[in-house]
Amino acid sequence: MRNMIRTASSTIQTQEKTDLLALTLPQLQQWLKERGEASFRAKQIYNWLFRQLVPDFAAMKNLPQTLRTRLEEEASIGLMTVRSEQHSKDGRTRKLLLELSDGRLIETVLMLYPPIGDGSSRATVCVSSQAGCALGCTFCATGQMGFDRHLTAGEIVAQVLYFARELKDAPWRAAGLPHSTPIDHITNIVLMGMGEPMHNYTNVMQALHILNSNDGFNLGARHMTISTAGLLPGIQKLSQEDLQINLAISLHAPTNELRSKTMPINNRYPIEQLIEACHEYIKATGRQVTFEYVLLAGVNDTPEHATQLANLLAPFKQLAHVNCIPVNVTTAAYSTPGPDAIRTFRQILTEHSVSNTVRAERGDDIAAACGQLRTRFENRKNIAKGATTLPIVQ
Ligand code: SF4
Repeated sequence: MRNMIRTASSTIQTQEKTDLLALTLPQLQQWLKERGEASFRAKQIYNWLFRQLVPDFAAMKNLPQTLRTRLEEEASIGLMTVRSEQHSKDGRTRKLLLELSDGRLIETVLMLYPPIGDGSSRATVCVSSQAGCALGCTFCATGQMGFDRHLTAGEIVAQVLYFARELKDAPWRAAGLPHSTPIDHITNIVLMGMGEPMHNYTNVMQALHILNSNDGFNLGARHMTISTAGLLPGIQKLSQEDLQINLAISLHAPTNELRSKTMPINNRYPIEQLIEACHEYIKATGRQVTFEYVLLAGVNDTPEHATQLANLLAPFKQLAHVNCIPVNVTTAAYSTPGPDAIRTFRQILTEHSVSNTVRAERGDDIAAACGQLRTRFENRKNIAKGATTLPIVQ
């Protein structure tokens, strides 16, 4: 049963059960009150769920047996089954394929980073917010699947808790650093997995509030990042939130003509509106915005593109940062730029005082890019069923 997120007893769970991972502490207090239970039990349950990280009610030893039985009957702790867990050869990337209660499949990735200087190791979970995605970006395996449904807050939280339990049970230490302190907890969350988080805004924010709670998981909002393809209403709402969550924009092209070719959302919210929304966001929050830029060889990686990008972002001064991401090839249409092209691209940004980094490629051997593992899994299923066409060319 090691790979079950739900408990042994919950294999008979029904949809009517309340997923406690989807409730804030006040909501859990209310849920208990409605059942005639003492509301102080909510903090005890929260402690078991989010600090002790227990996966079942039987382990909640300071609860009366009657309450534990009631919880077994009326509540659940996540409703997902692990279909596959893969670890990269270097041990720094772990990828889960999770089956939701309705059979839909999503992916979650844990990325482990060794300490830099005197710092500590980091453990970042890349979380999915939807099964599939409606936005159809052409370079993205998830975008080719279409939209299935939004994830619930509990399904978002459960992805983080899975890896939190795994690290608690077996802390990770970077290979070759025998004296570094092993990391036993999640340090960061990024909403960069399957789906567009701003399209599922309410459930995403509910999940982040739950994970931020001092009485529970207690992960600081500054360690959380929402990445959006550019849904302007979501950016505007995020700028008004009381949580100081980081914002990342999937930009990927410096002109409307080019961006609309790979990101259909650009037809609805073109670059000038997106840039204006980012200026407004910064004005409201004072926080830096990260611009993600997937480098596609021969498509958006020329010196001319770099200059256009630099001109677009230079007015942000130090409040914009570009994260260059050599494409993790998902379709035959794209290839990864060579090191010289990447170096030249970054140099032009630097010459224009636009801060930038390049994301180290991770987990290629386990199909770590969003949607790739599910696609491969479904391709195998289709082959097994005798399907004659495959949805994605890898
Ligand atoms: S890149 Fe993000 S927004 Fe675009 S299709 Fe993929 S999951 Fe959706």
